[in-house]
Amino acid sequence: MSRWRKIGEVTRPVSREMARALADRWRELPEHVKTPAQVLGRFGLGCEGTHGVFPRCNFSCTPCYHSSDANRVRVDGEHTVRHVDAQMEFLAQRAPHAHAQLIGGEVTLLDPDDHARTLQSMRRWGREPMSFSHGDFDYEYLERLTHDAQGRRRLRRISFAVHLDTTMRGRRGLRRTDDERALTPYRAAVMANFRRLRREKKVSSFVAHNMTVTPANVDQIVDVVRESQGFGFGMYSFQPAAFVGDRRRWREDYSTLDADRIWSKIEEGAGSPLPYRVLQVGDLRCNRTAWGFYVGDQWTSFFDENDPRDLEARDALLRDLGGVHFSAPPFLLVLRLSRVVLRHPTLILTAGSWTVRTVRRAGGWKKLLRERPRITTFVMHRFMDAEEVGPAWRDLQDGTWADVPERREVHERLLACSYRMAHPETGQLVPACVQHGLLDPEENRHLANELPLPRRRVKESLER
Ligand code: SF4
Repeated sequence: MSRWRKIGEVTRPVSREMARALADRWRELPEHVKTPAQVLGRFGLGCEGTHGVFPRCNFSCTPCYHSSDANRVRVDGEHTVRHVDAQMEFLAQRAPHAHAQLIGGEVTLLDPDDHARTLQSMRRWGREPMSFSHGDFDYEYLERLTHDAQGRRRLRRISFAVHLDTTMRGRRGLRRTDDERALTPYRAAVMANFRRLRREKKVSSFVAHNMTVTPANVDQIVDVVRESQGFGFGMYSFQPAAFVGDRRRWREDYSTLDADRIWSKIEEGAGSPLPYRVLQVGDLRCNRTAWGFYVGDQWTSFFDENDPRDLEARDALLRDLGGVHFSAPPFLLVLRLSRVVLRHPTLILTAGSWTVRTVRRAGGWKKLLRERPRITTFVMHRFMDAEEVGPAWRDLQDGTWADVPERREVHERLLACSYRMAHPETGQLVPACVQHGLLDPEENRHLANELPLPRRRVKESLER
């Protein structure tokens, strides 16, 4: 290939592989989610997650989506690196870049060197990794994660999803509580660690706040968001509890959780309506997402769903910028965006007028200059019960399509899934609902044989 051709390929706004992956994803989606707001198959491919790597956790949450054997499995760095690498290689064959969650039990039970090697492997395969944790770790862990034993920086940026809520048992200093406000100092402390990392070590971070919603804490969502909105979380993600995982940890009737009620509590906490139809990720019965930003304590959506000009700007974003790799090195990103603008010069006008309108809605330039805007996304992700996912997944494998409306809903949601996991051994991508509801128990039984705990720790673990 000539040098100019190579330059042309590298600076393509969207690589050929990514364009193909997007087209495939769009084709696979069920018709009911192919709306003008749909981001899957147009802007991105959704999220990926790891599985079968380190299911062990030192907390005991109620509920817990892990199967009852998870805590019989030893945390093993070599196993984690090897299997995550294989899963990411498989995903990279389908799409050159995506966001991927390093998820299992508690990620900080991994030795920091093994954790770092795993993140580096994920990046090598074009993934932007996010580590899932209960947040009960010290600053020193973050420092060692991002620096090697000689103190050399090996990660310039990290992403964490920190799970912090009253369904959890085992946090140092507060083993259990029923009051979400009692966790506010812990939310503040974890964010202070990430700020210190940036200040002292020049490592940037993105941190999401995760909360499992149950009938007992649903009304406390308002306090969680209000009290922590200035802490610097880039995302608030709420997962209504479902009947998945360890049955011994199911305490309440999760079927009483109503999506609209939960969303209204999140809106009350944010102090603003959160429009979730203007951009849609997969099926709205699985995901509601509202993108926007805080200025002071006022949250503003990126798009006003009632303004046709904003809807045009949204359409332009999905049409002209879909598939661009925004985590690419900055100089490459600038070249690629320049080519987008050359190809679609009207984008400048669209972006300009959208900026003016959005700044006005947020309170004007002066306010924005005085109080730095903070991008903050609100998400509600509703996992399904294992009992309904199992039969529906088997139908899909057999190519049958249920007539019963409830089963059909599960089919539709699984087909539009935005959060999937790789199975290189079978060549399948599996929705996380299927992974946790159907495949984890068997996988963890195997892992307990492959990576057994030292004998004396089995009893302690099972008692948790
Ligand atoms: S994991 Fe389950 S709830 Fe989440 S998007 Fe996929 S099918 Fe929907």
